[in-house]
Amino acid sequence: MAAKKLSLTSRIVIGMLAGILVGVLLQLTIADTPFVQVYLTEGLFKMAGEIFITSLMMLVVPLVFVSLVLGTSALSDPKKLGRLGGKAIGLYLFTTAVAITIAISAALLIKPGDGMSLTSDASFDAQEAPSFVDVIIDMVPSNPINAMAEGNMLQIIVFALLFGIAMTLVGKPGERLKNVFEDFNTVIMKLVMLLMHVAPYGVFALMARLFADLGFATIGSLLQYFLLVFVVLIFHGLVVYPLLLKGFTGLNPLIFLRKLRNAQLFGFSTASSNATIPITLETANRKLGVHNSVSSFTVPLGATINMDGTAIMQGVATVFIAQVYGIDLTVVDYLVVIATATLASVGTAGVPGVGLIMLAMVLQQVGLPVEGIALIIGVDRLLDMTRTAVNITGDCMVTTIIGKSEGQLDEATFNDPNADVDRE
Ligand code: ASP
Repeated sequence: MAAKKLSLTSRIVIGMLAGILVGVLLQLTIADTPFVQVYLTEGLFKMAGEIFITSLMMLVVPLVFVSLVLGTSALSDPKKLGRLGGKAIGLYLFTTAVAITIAISAALLIKPGDGMSLTSDASFDAQEAPSFVDVIIDMVPSNPINAMAEGNMLQIIVFALLFGIAMTLVGKPGERLKNVFEDFNTVIMKLVMLLMHVAPYGVFALMARLFADLGFATIGSLLQYFLLVFVVLIFHGLVVYPLLLKGFTGLNPLIFLRKLRNAQLFGFSTASSNATIPITLETANRKLGVHNSVSSFTVPLGATINMDGTAIMQGVATVFIAQVYGIDLTVVDYLVVIATATLASVGTAGVPGVGLIMLAMVLQQVGLPVEGIALIIGVDRLLDMTRTAVNITGDCMVTTIIGKSEGQLDEATFNDPNADVDRE
């Protein structure tokens, strides 16, 4: 049957396009009727979409814990761990700083907010930017079960690393436990694969619901801002990352991008780097050929601390809001924006809409009105989806660079176009 031959990627794309089409058609016709709202948008679509995302989230904590314990125990030398951590954090912060610098420069050049004087009654509460010391202290869990229950990724990472190290130090019991963890990992990965097969339906439901009540008129009135964020995101994903990958590793960026399509589609439709971790890990291990000892650490770490796409939105949004309110920012202010956005990304999880909370911290640091966020909130969902796909691409790029530099990248798998092609 022809349908059997379609790859999973094609099926997800079809689900996505069909969902967009149905959503737009509903929006143009009968989206407001009680029938559609009760039974479709807030009924069937909501149920299928949310169950899909929740099922992905369900796998994140056990998967990260188990694969990271295994990954750590596979590192023969604890010194390697320090080097890995240093490289990962360094590269993640570097790419985030590059992203926001490009975004601020583009916004200063294009001036998306000039000539606009929007006002808004809505308000937005800013949270304090976390201090560096607090971010570090908060990484150590006082109760690992609590960390898991809350899905606190950095705390889970710290506990899994320590657990994995201890496992290698105790000989026989450690080996026995390792076998158990390996079996656990196999079972959870099987669940991931099963879930991937229902993804086209989940993605359909998410898109149909979103597009049925997407504010096209709001996007129209903020078109310059919207397009600028969008173009810089695409530029970062399709130009900056390939250049960095080529520069650091010599690997073919086109192969890299091709293999990332599934993870990007999941990121785009869920708008959550965290929920996409199972797919990102699968992509890194089985498609890109990075060994689990690297990816089990860099992928969940990246989902939490690496948000280049989010930084891009914050860069453009800061300049945009400053322009709309007619406030001039100095060079020092822009440096503060870069530093705050980069630091804020370390302490916040990759979940939908978190970028706006981080933006509030950034605006507050440079004395811009936090209510400015109300101006852009209406167009944020589509941008959130796009930037999440970029965030995930960044996580995989850094993972590939580190895998290669640590001798933990299987180039044959990387170059093999059929490596793990949507195994049925
Ligand atoms: N949704 C983004 C992510 O999960 C974060 C954000 O920009 O709001 O990566």
